[in-house]
Amino acid sequence: MCSQALQHPVVTRFAPSPTGRMHAGNIFSYLYAWLFTKRHGGKVLLRIEDLDNTRSRASYADQIKQDFEMLGLYWDGEVLIQSQRNEAYTKAFETLKQLGLTYPCFCTRADIHAASAPHAGEQLVYPGTCALLTPSQQSARLQELGQEGRSPSVRIKIGSETIGFHDLLQGEQSYSCKDECGDFVIRRSDGGYAYQLAVVVDDAEQDVNLVVRGADLLASTPMQIYLQQLLGLGQPSYAHVPLICTQDGRRIAKRDHDASLDELLSQYKTIEGVLGHIAYITGLIESDQAMSAQDLLKSAHLSAVEGVRKIPWR
Ligand code: GLU
Repeated sequence: MCSQALQHPVVTRFAPSPTGRMHAGNIFSYLYAWLFTKRHGGKVLLRIEDLDNTRSRASYADQIKQDFEMLGLYWDGEVLIQSQRNEAYTKAFETLKQLGLTYPCFCTRADIHAASAPHAGEQLVYPGTCALLTPSQQSARLQELGQEGRSPSVRIKIGSETIGFHDLLQGEQSYSCKDECGDFVIRRSDGGYAYQLAVVVDDAEQDVNLVVRGADLLASTPMQIYLQQLLGLGQPSYAHVPLICTQDGRRIAKRDHDASLDELLSQYKTIEGVLGHIAYITGLIESDQAMSAQDLLKSAHLSAVEGVRKIPWR
């Protein structure tokens, strides 16, 4: 990986969502983050991203911590837990509100689907419907919703500018905010803060200067850079690692049990067997052999995944 844009000392983070057991794809991105950072003498912090209170479980968070230890991917320092950080997110939210860039959104997912132009990426681009409501329409909708005991989500307006950045693994990136992101949610209709806002606030709080994560989050990066700019926060460097996919090209998810850590352990017998197999199929090592994280620190070819977006699981 090209290290020209790195800030020193390197500080990265593992940011798991505690919604299930780790799988091959998560393990690969954590392994890569750890190897890269440790080779540069940096720190790896841990943050539990448990803002989705319908899917997050404390038991998964405990399991994930044990899995990191078992994998030999040790983190440095205190664990930051997003569900305990509401005050910091509220502060950032209020700052954005004062900039006059936020508005309540009453659309359902189905409304957005119906009004969106077909889009190549997985991301649904919001067509801006609720930005056009007049103040009196807005208060009428707020009142209606309030009577049903519900609240709107809150979106932030995005301009027509292009946001570009250099990804350490995927190269130059450029996004037209209007066409590829659209105005995006910073507070959900259940009152919880959205991932895009929380991640930016927390990366700054933890002094993270390198974000290493799966390439499925590449398209979230311009939204995060936009928020960093509005909030006056520093911009970390980004490295998006290839996604491990099923043979038909779909990203491996927690429901794909054959790639879950449990299943991997029963198939490859030891943690070293699992890590070695993952390092092998991603091209970090040349033969399928058992390797610990420490062994891989010495011998993995980290540049093997430069420019790669997807790797089929086998
Ligand atoms: N919590 C996200 C996940 O587990 C990662 C978010 C990030 O790295 O920015 O997929």
